[in-house]
This record gives sequence, structure tokens and C-alpha cells, in this order.
Amino acid sequence: MQAHVTIGHRIFDLKKAMDISIPISFSDSVSAFGAATPKKNPYQVNSFIGDVGLGGSCNCHEITINPHCHGTHTECVGHILSHVQPVPVLIKPFFGIAQLVTFEVKGISKNDLQKITLDSDVEALIIRTMPNPTNKKNQTYTDAAYMEVDAIKYCNEYGIKHLLVDFPSVDPIEDGGHLLAHRAFWHVEPGQITMSDNVAEDKSITELIYVPNEIHDGIYALNIQISNMELDGVPSRPLLYPEIV
Ligand SMILES: [Zn+2]
Repeated sequence: MQAHVTIGHRIFDLKKAMDISIPISFSDSVSAFGAATPKKNPYQVNSFIGDVGLGGSCNCHEITINPHCHGTHTECVGHILSHVQPVPVLIKPFFGIAQLVTFEVKGISKNDLQKITLDSDVEALIIRTMPNPTNKKNQTYTDAAYMEVDAIKYCNEYGIKHLLVDFPSVDPIEDGGHLLAHRAFWHVEPGQITMSDNVAEDKSITELIYVPNEIHDGIYALNIQISNMELDGVPSRPLLYPEIV
């Protein structure tokens, strides 16, 4: 049985979902910003232990994770401001047109983006960086690619609402805490810590994706599946759907 979705003048195949997320692993985890491996422990109450291997009636674990450090996550402007609504409130479910592009540079600049013909229908930009080994999915990051502020401003001019990158942060890992690329994306002034009318609160940044090399650059339908957690950054699972041409 076929399942198609039409977005604008394009038709996409819903039966061919391609997962570009890194799962949160409790054994072989990706890690950034010095975070230790995620932890899970069987829940224990009275005589119940949440582990079948330990004699429990079922598995039931309590976990310790850091969404920003342990896998693919989607964040809202609440990442850099105080007292802001969490991701599930600010970021409406997204199913729209995305463009996948690949770069072989560390600091992605406006000049790099201008070499790409961005399609006018695109609402989401997906950035893959080379080299792109599969061990990106369990790498411990001490250094990584990032986006220059002028590149972010270029995305803003193009009306990009959802930015997805395969590195831990759109800002350099060491940036003195300024987060200028995040601020530029959400129209938040340097030093500003509270919401204001200028802030683009419906835009999202997704970091630590992994796009396999088999997936070619180009146009896709994108659905960003986010966990319903009241946080500024939540584990997420972006799925791509190929166009039927
Ligand atoms: Zn983050």
C-alpha cells in the first residue's frame, strides 16, 4: 500500500522514511561538553526491581541523560533565555520541505552557503559535514564544526525556520559562553536573557544529527519528531522522506 504526501508541487514517499538521528545510548554514547555516559538503573520499590534479568516482573528503568550532550536533540530559544516555554510548546510539529547540504569545512560561512542553490520552498536546512564516519554516532567531542554568525544571518534572510546540524553546537565548542550563532538565529541580542517581541520563538535548532553518506544532498520532506518533555532541548528524531520524481 502506498503512502504519499504532497507539499506544494512536490510528492514524497511516506513509506521510505530515513532516520537521521543519533539515539541516546546507555553503553556506547556520543558525548559533548564533557558529559559522562547516560545512566539507567532499574527502578526499585518495595520488593519490585525493574529488571527481568534480576528477577523483576518487567523492565523499568530510571535514567540520567543530558539531551544537549548525548544525542540528537531539538532546542528552542529557551536554551539561551530564562523563563521561556519548553520545546513542545514553542515548536509546533513540523512536516515540511528541507534541503540537505554537505560541507567539508570547520567554520561554515555565509560564503560557503552562497555556493549552494537554496530552493525557495525550503523551510528547514540540514547540514552534514565531511569527513562523515559512522563513529560520529559514539564520538566524544572535544572540538567540532560550527556555523559563523554571517552564515546564520544568511539562513535567517532565507526564512530558514528549522536548522539541523551534525555537530554538537551551532556555536564553537569553546566560545566563552557568548553563543552568538544561537543568538543570531533567534534574534536575541548579546547579553539579553529574557524574552522580547523581536525574538523568533517558533524557530528550532537540532544538533548532533547523523546523516549517512548513502543519503544524497537535495530536497526531502522532513518530519522532526520531538520528545514531549518540558525542557529547552529535548531528544528528537528527524525523519527524511524522498521525493517521488
Ligand atoms: Zn544543544
